[in-house]
Amino acid sequence: MKELKYTILVVEDEPLISEMVMKSLKLEGYTVVVAQTGDDGLSKAKEIKPDLVLLDVLLPKLDGWEILTRLRDDPRCKDIPIIMLTALTDEKSKVQGLRGGADDYVTKPFSALELMARVEAVLKRADRPAHGGSTQSQVPVRKGDKIYLIDMDDINFIDVHRDCTYLHTDDDHFLAGNTMMEFEKILDSRKFFRAHRGYIVNLRKIKEIVKVGASSFELTMNDPEHRKIPMSRRQTSELKKLLNI
Ligand code: CA
Repeated sequence: MKELKYTILVVEDEPLISEMVMKSLKLEGYTVVVAQTGDDGLSKAKEIKPDLVLLDVLLPKLDGWEILTRLRDDPRCKDIPIIMLTALTDEKSKVQGLRGGADDYVTKPFSALELMARVEAVLKRADRPAHGGSTQSQVPVRKGDKIYLIDMDDINFIDVHRDCTYLHTDDDHFLAGNTMMEFEKILDSRKFFRAHRGYIVNLRKIKEIVKVGASSFELTMNDPEHRKIPMSRRQTSELKKLLNI
């Protein structure tokens, strides 16, 4: 899977973390460059134009958000995939990152395994031919013996029944060839949210979050049927932050 040699820039001031990250990346065959301050990270990003940046939020000199903004403002660097390394308690991080254009987030403390999975997913997504973006815009689905291409923006939600994945739009539903995990990789993480093990929802198609028990919540979708989608409490608070409500 890794015939391609990718260069990854790690901007992280905590030596233990940057060392762990660097070792794991190197084991996977990536070329790694490390920066320990924000300004060094920014200049290295501009100089080597890495295939991916792992960007800590709290850094000396320039913080991660500032670096993210400056890279996105630079035409030569605006398409470099960026994974933010955020602190567990940093509730604002995800929303701020969504606005700033980060590609993904890993919350500290993270395992090497988790980080490698995110790195691989983001690199894979960035590899797709794109026009001004890093994700594909249509997904092939089936209805009976016909194949359709559905615009990702038209997806209301995706669910799983008896090991099959179904994609729901305003007026129909289709059998999808992708698994939930594959959808998580190909869908824009700024637009879609894994609300439940069996559901991925389009953030812009959510009508409301409803409390249905002491600690359980569900989503009402803004579709003709007002479909209900179950959620856990943890996912609820994460989603509220995402939606800024
Ligand atoms: Ca830090």
